[in-house]
Amino acid sequence: MSSSASDQLFVHKHTRKEFRERMQSGELKACIIPVAATEQHLEHLAMEHDWRSVNHVASLVAEKLSPQVVIAQSMNIGISEHHMRHIGTLSALPGSWLGVLFDTIRSMHHAGFTNILVLNGHGGNIAPCEGNWGQFQQRLEINLQFESYWSFLPDSVAEANLKTKRWPGHAQEFETAFAMAAFPENVRHDAMREQPDQEPMEATAEAGAAMIDAIVEGVAGHVQKMIDGTSVADIPPFHE
Ligand SMILES: [Zn+2]
Repeated sequence: MSSSASDQLFVHKHTRKEFRERMQSGELKACIIPVAATEQHLEHLAMEHDWRSVNHVASLVAEKLSPQVVIAQSMNIGISEHHMRHIGTLSALPGSWLGVLFDTIRSMHHAGFTNILVLNGHGGNIAPCEGNWGQFQQRLEINLQFESYWSFLPDSVAEANLKTKRWPGHAQEFETAFAMAAFPENVRHDAMREQPDQEPMEATAEAGAAMIDAIVEGVAGHVQKMIDGTSVADIPPFHE
């Protein structure tokens, strides 16, 4: 049996022969590395939310740009010390987390990619990445970029779809709407009604679907620009 179209989206679904042949053919032009977290999302959303949502976006983007893009998964733990009072949260220290992320990037560069987008789904990962990104870029000197998926949501689409007008937030209207649209089994409606924080109650699946469409379009457009060479990372200058 040959592999299915969806198997082609993920590095780990290939055999070494299949992956090698795709790299050699030159059809693979960019790699997405999703990074997220496993952490509490109030009483009503499954703890995989950030991981599941960023992978949902990455998969749709890779599908849209097929066969040019592949996804390398390695990071479903995030930097989440601020959520550790809720057990079940998995948190990595920034040093360890950045080490594994860099090793994943390095592995994909070793495979032949020079366009790599680290697509983020968790707020706690942003500051450590921003603080170290220039050094990652200087080490590899490739088109290596970091973006959070919600930064591709146009303000106009967010404002038209969110009653609270607040995003991304944490387990609030935006994330709850996303889950309702993409993986509704992760939303516990009884717990949502009973918890003190009632903001997630504004969420609808329709709004979630509209926002996901806009995000996927934005990320896909950005990755295509990376492939075309019109979006190139600014590597901080080296000292002469
Ligand atoms: Zn979240």
